[in-house]
Amino acid sequence: MKKELKGIFEKGSTHWVGDGFHVRNLFPSNGLEDEVSPFLMLDYAGPTVFPPGNPRGVGEHPHRGFETVTIAYQGSIAHRDSGGHAGVIHPGDVQWMTAASGVVHEEKQETEFARLGGTLEMVQLWVNLPKAYKMSPPRYQSLGKQQIPAVELEGGTLRVIAGEYRGARGPAKTFTPVNLFDVRLQAGGRAALELPEGFNTAVVLLKGAATVNGRDELAGEAKIAVFGTEGTELSLNAREESALLVLNGEPIREPVASYGPFVMNTQSELRQAVDDYRAGRMGHL
Ligand code: MN
Repeated sequence: MKKELKGIFEKGSTHWVGDGFHVRNLFPSNGLEDEVSPFLMLDYAGPTVFPPGNPRGVGEHPHRGFETVTIAYQGSIAHRDSGGHAGVIHPGDVQWMTAASGVVHEEKQETEFARLGGTLEMVQLWVNLPKAYKMSPPRYQSLGKQQIPAVELEGGTLRVIAGEYRGARGPAKTFTPVNLFDVRLQAGGRAALELPEGFNTAVVLLKGAATVNGRDELAGEAKIAVFGTEGTELSLNAREESALLVLNGEPIREPVASYGPFVMNTQSELRQAVDDYRAGRMGHL
């Protein structure tokens, strides 16, 4: 049975994150919350050209209660955090950071990229954690381009970042079942997906033009198609060269309380998060 489309949405808001990432937000600004659980937020920093200069980005800030997933397409992003971790996310790489009990970090354009200038294109996706793991120790998964399996499609490629597609397993370890696929299709290319029944599903078109389930058209840039939990089949047919992300995961059926960079289950846990951050209990750079 085909998955049923619930709606197609445009980018909900466009804004700068710090001074380095010009993002189109696809959710939650479109009012999508329960429909996309366990996913909380998706920002697409569409291709932005930066002149040579100092590294731009977001300075020291905290996170608690969820995971941040950064996918680099063009340009390189450097990060460092309160736990002493630092690294660079190059084009094709993915960083899956579990903030859980708390991380303070900065995310900036990599120094050499900034010095030369160029085009930056990336996605940041937030994945919720169930209550049982919100206060777990933080964790990093640096998923290099070469670790991410690429499955050949008819006229395209599907990279399995998390979960499984036709026997290829993604390298990301997740706390709840998640499939995250990075799909590139040439004009005329297609992908046939078989997804678990009962999971939430969304297809994000970063750019291009593609038909979903032979009927509904996604075209332009920064569009999202959201599907119901019933059914398992989803097909993508590209009319033009297209870049897409498939998000699929088991919903976390727990209350969500969020305040900026903190996503917990209750207001009192949010107040605790603010207190812990201000008291330095999440550390400093
Ligand atoms: Mn951050």
